[in-house]
Amino acid sequence: MASLTPAPTSSYRGRLAPSPTGYLHVGHARTFFAAWQRSRNAGGTLVLRMEDLDPDRSLAEYAEAALEDLRWLGIRWHEGPDKGGPFAPYAQSRRHAVYLAEWRRLLAGGFIYPCRCSRKDLAAALSAPHESAHGKLEPLDDEPIYPGTCRPKAGESPAPSHSAAIDLENPGTSNWRFRVVDGEVIEFDDLNLGPQRFQAGVDFGDFVVWRRDGVPSYQLACVADDAAMGITEVVRGADLLKSTARQILLNRALGFANPSWFHCSLVVDHNGRRLAKRHDALSLRALRQRGLTPMNILSAELPVEK
Ligand code: GLU
Repeated sequence: MASLTPAPTSSYRGRLAPSPTGYLHVGHARTFFAAWQRSRNAGGTLVLRMEDLDPDRSLAEYAEAALEDLRWLGIRWHEGPDKGGPFAPYAQSRRHAVYLAEWRRLLAGGFIYPCRCSRKDLAAALSAPHESAHGKLEPLDDEPIYPGTCRPKAGESPAPSHSAAIDLENPGTSNWRFRVVDGEVIEFDDLNLGPQRFQAGVDFGDFVVWRRDGVPSYQLACVADDAAMGITEVVRGADLLKSTARQILLNRALGFANPSWFHCSLVVDHNGRRLAKRHDALSLRALRQRGLTPMNILSAELPVEK
């Protein structure tokens, strides 16, 4: 067992960040395996962080299943909810204070403003917005570009005039959005996919950092945790490239160094659609029950039928 989790010999820190909103599938397996391999090759530390941010969609059963599926694939980690570690807790549902502190810093820096717009936009903010293989967002998977209804006018302080009424312990009387600079270009070099370029106001708009029901958004929680846990490289699916651009803006606002980015190409089904958690037949459990091995699942040829 010790050989599977060799003691780290470098300062590399990677992470596995499953969301327990369904069973892991082939796409997750490939991304998580890549994250594990890269951390091993670097002699680094791998952290498992359970992204159970959304109280309505996260289930303990899926969290348990994710750990079990990852172990079955042969993936091992050094720190996590099951192992503890210096940056515990490793479940987002238990890290509220970390997110609240970062929300306060965004507020103090004038980066965010309160917003009273629709519930629909806000539902999308809690989960990582996954894109289809063709680069098109599935409906509701990402926030629509915000039309700016509640955005302070140019020259107006983003912190509202009634700021004395803001409860610093509880942002939850409004939703809060990060104000982007329309037209700003965000560029980064992806270690797998090469140079990337996105434009604020075109690829994404003012995005939610906190919902009025008291839950921080995926973008804020992710950046806060990656910084707090000392993550030096983020390995994730290519469907999160635009999230990375937003997270670069949050890192800048919060004074965090950017980690390196490695985005894995997406696994698609026979119709060219991204595998989603709703493709139950392609869940690791279902494939395992059908007798497939981790080798089958990780090999380039996807041995599954629709
Ligand atoms: N919990 C996210 C997901 O499952 C991970 C996103 C990330 O790697 O930042 O999609």
